[in-house]
Amino acid sequence: MKKLFLIIGAPGSGKTTDAELIAQKHDSITHYSTGDMFRAEIASGSQRGALIDSFVSKGNLVPIEIAIETIVTAIKNAPSDVVIIDGYPRSAEQMNALDTYLKEEPEVSLVNVIEVTVSKEVACQRVLGRAADADVARDDDNVEIFNNRMKLYTDPLLVIQEFYTSKDLLTQFNGERTIEVIVNEMDAFIQSKI
Ligand code: AMP
Repeated sequence: MKKLFLIIGAPGSGKTTDAELIAQKHDSITHYSTGDMFRAEIASGSQRGALIDSFVSKGNLVPIEIAIETIVTAIKNAPSDVVIIDGYPRSAEQMNALDTYLKEEPEVSLVNVIEVTVSKEVACQRVLGRAADADVARDDDNVEIFNNRMKLYTDPLLVIQEFYTSKDLLTQFNGERTIEVIVNEMDAFIQSKI
């Protein structure tokens, strides 16, 4: 039985860093970031990567078929029973697609959906700060694309929050604290659930 945790959060919320640090502490946890998986596919130079790039470079969502297939493959191939995926779902449609998959897949159980909350101002400062640092800058870290990514994150958020709250699966973490504090708290929470 695979135990799945999802992490959602605005661009710049720190969701990928948090999940990465937690997975590093435990051999029993595997972490995947949808954004990282898409960037790896783009970097591979494949045709699928080129298609994905046409969405990611504008800050748009990649098509749902690609998004759901990417996470289902990651969950199936994960070498551990506990899997953290950050960056999914990003729309009501993606949430429903995962829900359908989970209903038909008794070997995967969604344990919790963690939302890392940050204000739009903090998110913007962090992303534009990253844009100014050549070592970590991403092609989609600029103000116009940030605004588009933020809007796409915010638009379906209420529906996603309500859906997982109704299942008693949503937990919010204040993402404006130091990485260490957030990671320790989130790690303890995940450990308490597995
Ligand atoms: P992130 O690294 O989470 O900021 O994601 C970078 C980009 O990857 C996003 O702006 C989207 O273009 C794409 N992406 C990441 N996750 C998803 C998803 N669940 N569905 C569709 N596109 C996604």
